[in-house]
Amino acid sequence: MNQEVNFPISTSALELVKVCNASNDHGDPKKTPNTKGPQLYRWQQLRSAIEDWFVNQGPEEFVIKKAENEQFHMFDELQRKLVSDSFTKFRSLYPRSKSEINPDWPQKTVFKEINNEQYAISSHVQFEIMDKDRTDYIRLKTGEIKETILDKAIFTSERYGNETYYTASVKDEDLIEHETIDNHEEIIEEYFQIYEQFLNNPSKTNPNKKCASVCSRPSKCGEFPVLGNIELGRFDRALTVSKTNLLKLEGCERRAAWKLLYGIPEDKENNFGEFGIKFHDAAGKMLVTTKDRNDPVEIERLKELIKDEDDEIQKKIIERYKELLEKLKGYENLELTLNEYPVGFTCVPNGTKVLSDYRLKEGKVATSFIGQADLLGRLDGFPIIIELKTGKKQEGDLTEAELYAFGVWKRFAEAEKKDVTVLHIYLNEENDDPVPRKFGEEEFKTIEKKFHSYAEKIASWDPLDALSVDHSQGNCCDYCEFKDTCAEFR
Ligand code: SF4
Ligand code: SF4
Repeated sequence: MNQEVNFPISTSALELVKVCNASNDHGDPKKTPNTKGPQLYRWQQLRSAIEDWFVNQGPEEFVIKKAENEQFHMFDELQRKLVSDSFTKFRSLYPRSKSEINPDWPQKTVFKEINNEQYAISSHVQFEIMDKDRTDYIRLKTGEIKETILDKAIFTSERYGNETYYTASVKDEDLIEHETIDNHEEIIEEYFQIYEQFLNNPSKTNPNKKCASVCSRPSKCGEFPVLGNIELGRFDRALTVSKTNLLKLEGCERRAAWKLLYGIPEDKENNFGEFGIKFHDAAGKMLVTTKDRNDPVEIERLKELIKDEDDEIQKKIIERYKELLEKLKGYENLELTLNEYPVGFTCVPNGTKVLSDYRLKEGKVATSFIGQADLLGRLDGFPIIIELKTGKKQEGDLTEAELYAFGVWKRFAEAEKKDVTVLHIYLNEENDDPVPRKFGEEEFKTIEKKFHSYAEKIASWDPLDALSVDHSQGNCCDYCEFKDTCAEFR
């Protein structure tokens, strides 16, 4: 047996691997482009400021000012304010003491032999704070708290003496003490099994909702083809543009940029409508599993599927589903096989990248456009994507259709030289007619140019300066999630 331990996988990476093996580059020597963005830069600098403040035992006010000047100077005024607010919140959550701080990526690690080699899983925290009677391990969170059961299991298993594990959430202004758990061995074993199935097939993909959000490898895994087949490596930059953010780009550039790149906190959360989500889910599941969608017993199957919803929602889903079946009449030779499936592609323009010392440099920026298509299948043997809309017709429906058509063509149909249809079916109050759009090779040349120009724009945004992006005031300001912050920083 080889006694050397392979480079440990982190708990967060293993959570992604649990859903899709190819989300981790452990088995891929070509590595992954750099997806660090403004939020991570802010988090990194906050961590450094906390370390400076804790170590420097000078007068509090002086130390804070010094840490802020040294650690936050690279950001624009808005991002400086955000990171400075987070710093203030952390200081009230965990006041400074004379304890010793270890900021050098403290971690707890568990080991196992797999296929005659030693493997390890590590749970990282940001600070280890020690005094003579106790040690605190502190994980710093600026966004959503997603502590995994695996982190708790590893901490419980590797805990020595009087050690406590906390999450300091500056978003929720809360210091959460984590309990130890009883079944830690079982959980660690379960995750080592996940790790083993990954090691046995590291490049296996499983497209899922995380492709457009947390995964850093859409430009590498093959599911979102790279236009021009450009090879990308760890010195290139990469980012992902979800369909929702793409459509925002066609309205106000600042609104899109703050959402998709800078992670500026929203003034208010937009509600995407509970009914629409439930209807999409039920209709999608029905249509990809049916043998004959028009068979009357299908409605009984739908009722069974949604039986846990409240009566009003059930009634509405059934009505809309019947409406949908009516609108699908005329599409007899239709076979739907996938629902809620991510499709897209990757453009690689030149743009701005940030070096480790925060200097800017021009470089390749892999920009993956990814949307979650409602239904995918074939109509008379040709690829078709069906989008179900419970709201009004939107100008952005064309761009959405272009994204899906080109994504499906590049991934599944280019070799067959087959046209792709996108069918929008409206199940709204206005009772709009369905809109089919057909795309072929000629249209795809225009679409490629359009998306490349979007990618160039996005790649040119300076990640350290959220205020450098143009804004265009208009009707969309009324329901913009950044309305107040935007007004403050115009
Ligand atoms: S983008 Fe999606 S399919 Fe590709 S590696 Fe990531 S999670 Fe897997
Ligand atoms: S408030 Fe208006 S100008 Fe400002 S980001 Fe939103 S849409 Fe753009």
